[in-house]
Amino acid sequence: MRIELTEEQKLVYRSVRDFAAAEVRPHAAKWDRDGTFPAAMVPKLADLGLLGLTVPAEHGGAGLDMVSAMLAVEAISWGDGAIGLTVASHNSLCTGHILLFANEDQKRRYLPKLARGDILGAWCLTEPGAGSDAASIQTRARRNGSSYVLNGSKAFVTQGSVGGVYVVMAVTDAAAGKDGISAFIVDRGAGGLRVGKKEDKLGVRASDTAEVTFEDCEVPATALIGREGEGYQQAMAILERGRIGIAAMAVGLGRAALEDSLAYAAQRQAFGKPIGQHQAIQFMLADMGTELDAAWLLVLRAAQLVDLGRPFRREASMAKLFASEAGARATNKAVQIHGGYGLIKDYAVERYYRDIKLCEIGEGTSEIQRIIISKSLIGTR
Ligand SMILES: Cc1cc2nc3c(=O)[nH]c(=O)nc-3n(C[C@H](O)[C@H](O)[C@H](O)COP(=O)(O)OP(=O)(O)OC[C@H]3O[C@@H](n4cnc5c(N)ncnc54)[C@H](O)[C@@H]3O)c2cc1C
Repeated sequence: MRIELTEEQKLVYRSVRDFAAAEVRPHAAKWDRDGTFPAAMVPKLADLGLLGLTVPAEHGGAGLDMVSAMLAVEAISWGDGAIGLTVASHNSLCTGHILLFANEDQKRRYLPKLARGDILGAWCLTEPGAGSDAASIQTRARRNGSSYVLNGSKAFVTQGSVGGVYVVMAVTDAAAGKDGISAFIVDRGAGGLRVGKKEDKLGVRASDTAEVTFEDCEVPATALIGREGEGYQQAMAILERGRIGIAAMAVGLGRAALEDSLAYAAQRQAFGKPIGQHQAIQFMLADMGTELDAAWLLVLRAAQLVDLGRPFRREASMAKLFASEAGARATNKAVQIHGGYGLIKDYAVERYYRDIKLCEIGEGTSEIQRIIISKSLIGTR
């Protein structure tokens, strides 16, 4: 494993972090308070290549390797967790699904628009009655001549109300279990696609999350991605990659919490000296720095395996599990270091503490990661 980043990778991190410092951080508290998606950010994110991170240049993307893409997700999440989730999910879920599994026609039709930010991508697997147990989804897609007709409800769809295109997992053969699930590309304008309740969340509040329902929603047969029955396996492969992105997001939020804590510990006085000179505070900072570095190394390992074309399922789950929990511990310590001010919205650590919770839940909870890792270690995967 190579620990040292290339000059190009360092440049990606630095340029996204500079952008996040100038264009994202100053507005994050207001976006959080309003709980609305800042649509004006979309062209700016696209200009920097953040909406087509690993999409090849021939399809209008930035054509980055996975390590660079994860550095970009970390840096933008350092600026704001909600924008970090927007970038991570747009790239790894909807866009990633089309990039990895769609045919050339579908790629030509959608990837340039997604990479340019003309449209945002949403990805619909979870349902009100099926989250971790994704094989039990109930949304149906019935073949009807040269089209499919979709019926069902999807929950917690990121970009659900602002998406321009949706990748939707639906059952085409109920008797075949998870091998009866297929994936479809559905345009926002498709008749019968309705955006339902927009969720009012604890954290990542400016990331758009909504219910999406399909009522006799007719799509052409050419909307099918791959072949019938491949949707579940495709979705699991997409989540494997996506988890590395959620881990990178957790590292970005954790690093923001550490930096704010270092600055606060240097200026806040207690018992005649800066609190950073009390060993209890120093030890919290030491734990935060150590765990966040360890988390980043797990992200780097998983991303390098992707770039090498090697299997990475266990490593992606390890990165997600450790980074999300280390990030949660770091943001918790950051609030502690800020004392009472840590609970006040004038200080960003209060927001990081709420935002990071998503990382322990989205794209597979910590419990699901432990199941994947233990099965792999025991040899039953
Ligand atoms: C902000 C946000 C954005 C999201 N974006 C998307 C999106 O864009 N697209 C999408 O499809 N989904 C999305 N999700 C859904 C997310 O992936 C699910 O919430 C997550 O997978 C958990 O599913 P659930 O909420 O149904 O919880 P459940 O599956 O009901 O789990 C409840 C609890 O039971 C535990 N549990 C479940 N099964 C087991 C088991 N076998 N062993 C031990 N413990 C178990 C879980 O770990 C959890 O603690 C998003 C969620 C959030 C909060």
